[in-house]
Formats: sequence, C-alpha cells, structure tokens
Amino acid sequence: MVGIERVPDPTILNPRDAIVRITRTAICGSDLHLYDGYIPTMEPGDILGHEFMGEVVETGSEVRKIKKGDRVIVPFTISCGECFFCKNQLWSACDNTNPNAWMCEKMYGFTAAALFGYSHMLGGYAGGQAQFARVPFADVGCLQIPEGLEDEKVLFLTDIFPTGYMAAENCDLKGGEVVAIWGCGPVGQFTIRSAFMLGAERVIAIDRFRERLKMARAAGAEVINYEEVDDLIEELKWVTGGRGPDACIDAVGMEAHGTGLMAAYDYSKQRIRAAFDRPLVLREAIQACRKGGVVSIPGVYGGMLDKLPFGASFNKGLVLKMGQTHMQRYTEPLLRRIQNGEIDPSFVITHRLALDEAPAAYKTFRDKQDECIKVVLDPWAEPAAA
Ligand code: NAD
Ligand code: ZN
Repeated sequence: MVGIERVPDPTILNPRDAIVRITRTAICGSDLHLYDGYIPTMEPGDILGHEFMGEVVETGSEVRKIKKGDRVIVPFTISCGECFFCKNQLWSACDNTNPNAWMCEKMYGFTAAALFGYSHMLGGYAGGQAQFARVPFADVGCLQIPEGLEDEKVLFLTDIFPTGYMAAENCDLKGGEVVAIWGCGPVGQFTIRSAFMLGAERVIAIDRFRERLKMARAAGAEVINYEEVDDLIEELKWVTGGRGPDACIDAVGMEAHGTGLMAAYDYSKQRIRAAFDRPLVLREAIQACRKGGVVSIPGVYGGMLDKLPFGASFNKGLVLKMGQTHMQRYTEPLLRRIQNGEIDPSFVITHRLALDEAPAAYKTFRDKQDECIKVVLDPWAEPAAA
C-alpha cells in the first residue's frame, strides 16, 4: 500500500552526502513491482521513489563538485565512484553503497549497487517521492543541469531514458537492423527512440494498449497488438521475411501480462509466492530472436525464472544482455542529446499531479487507466480539488 505520511526531513549523515530539495519526481514501472509486493525486504514506512531532481540545499564537508544552490538530477543507482566496478563504468554493480550487502549476497552471490527507495536488500535508502532526499556520494550521484532546461526535459535522465538507451546499446547495432521491443511503457518508449538513434532500420513495438502503441508509432515504430495476433512468434517471423528480428528487447519484465496455459502457470506460481517473476515475455523474446541475435533485457527480474527456453537460446547462439542501468555512463551524453534538440523526453508525460495525489496515481499508472503512460509529481503543489 502507498500512502502519504509526514516524516522528519533528512539530514547529512556522512561527509559526502548532500540534501536535495526535490522539485520533480516520477513513478516508475519498477515502483509497481514494489507496489504489487513482488520485491522482497520492503518494510512499512519505507519512502519510495528513484526518479527525482531538485536543488542542492546542503552539502557535507567532503563534497567537492556540487554546491548549495546547484540544480541537479539524481540517477536511481547509488555509486561510490571509486571501486573496481565504478572505475570500469559498471556503476550499477558498485561494491560500496549497499549496507545490507549480505542480503543480496545470499540471493545473488554478490551485491549490486544500492538504489533509492528500493527495498532493504538494495540498501534501504529513503527514496525521492518526497520533498527532500539525502543523496550519498553526492559528487557521483548528482549531475548539475545547465540553465535553460526545464525539469520535465531532464527528469528522465534519472532512469528511463538511460535505461532505454542502454537496452538499445546492448543490441550492438551496426545500422540497418530490425529490432523488436516488447512493452511500450515509458521504458519501451525510450528504447524505441534509442534504437532508431543507434541505427535500427525498423523497430517493431509490441503491447496491447492503444495509446501506448500510438506513441510508439509516432516515433516511427511498426506496432503489433499482441492480443490481436494468433501467434506472435509466427507474426514476427512473417514480418521479417522468415528470419526473425536481429535483436529482441524485453522492456516488460517480471509482471508480464498474458493469457493461456503458460501465463496461468506463471500467475499461479507468483500468487502462491513460489516465484517472483512471470517471464512470459522473455520466453517469447528468446524464441523469436534470429539465430546469432541479441536478447536485451531492461525489464526487471528478481528470482529463479521458470521454463525459460535456454536450449533455444543455446542452440541459436544468442547473446543475452541485461541489468540495472549503468546510469553515470549515460547521463552526460544523453543530456547533450537533449541540449542538441535530438529528443525532448517530456513527450512521455501524460499525468502531472501533486505528490499528495500519489496513492491514486500509483493505481492509475499500474492499471493503465485514463490512458496513463507516465506520471510526474510536484512535491510542493497543492492537490487539485477533487
Ligand atoms: P510499465 O508497466 O508502464 O510498462 C510495461 C508495459 O509492458 C505495459 O505497457 C504493458 O502493457 C506491457 N506488457 C505487459 N505484458 C506484455 C506482453 N506479454 N507483451 C508485450 N507487452 C506487454 O513499466 P515501465 O516503466 O515501462 O518499465 C518496464 C520495465 O522496465 C519494468 O520491469 C521496470 O521495472 C523496468 N525498468 C528497468 C530499469 C533498469 O535499470 N533495467 C529501469 C527502469 C525500469
Ligand atoms: Zn525506475
């Protein structure tokens, strides 16, 4: 359950912290996995939110690059900037930011970087669907935004734009490829546009919501409503001359929707907590991909995936790439693309609300009501009169 509560303002705890007064924040598809209870180690009172930006109001004594008054975006991964992984641009694998590393180590062998507002297993840090946030390792975690770019244009540098971009980059496009993308949510939308930026000749976007398919089409994608085709794999073969897409991107993740026997199997396992994930889309992406192609997975998965066609993946010689986005690799280059006018990320926003309206907004976004694609929240606005 999501609610609004008054909590104490965050304070500087470590010399490399900064406190940010948040001017805009958003709800992400990843928050829905928390909302629906599929990510373990959440606790009552946890503050959600990992897409936020604002003004620095206080810095610790060892913060060097950013200063009070700077306008910054704050990427969702928390990285130290100094470990082996950060030095190798593997920012979401940072070794130093998760105080609860042992929880992850038990499940995954090693810990990933901590994330804002995303379970105790991933650090237990308070998130940014709030008026203020504490940003650890602030010099690494904050990127200063130049004058003249309004919040809505740069807010999605905190997550979904880099995520879509990395998903497309992972396909190793050389130019001229056919890329199929499952999911036309916010992540899917940025993946579509990034695939074109990186040279894809055709993008085939798959979803079932008309408004999301329409937004995909506006970017130049061909679209398939998966509820309107008998056999999606056959359809993808058909539209690629029998060869299959060169790259298949799963921008859906653990809460894939579906019907039929396999879907029923996934839903029931998830319901009785015998599995975290419903890997319907990933199965399709592996099955549909051409031999020697790439399956790129920005969609989030949490546990042991059942009935995955690993044999197909092996015998077709597929490359599988995935992961939480290595944010700091992309924030500056993508900021430049926004400044150059190559893309205005605010195209994806359908709902602008006050933070106080977040509980209802979570439901609207989760259930895809009111043609909702992306919600942006203003922590200081009065809620609109009901
Ligand atoms: P969203 O819920 O708005 O969008 C998901 C879309 O997938 C919906 O439009 C839905 O209709 C569609 N979908 C569901 N089942 C489908 C199916 N069988 N075939 C095709 N489409 C289907 O969420 P979002 O914000 O776009 O996020 C998408 C995924 O990306 C989530 O899993 C989220 O957690 C993940 N994500 C990952 C990262 C990362 O760092 N890797 C960052 C942000 C989000
Ligand atoms: Zn997110």
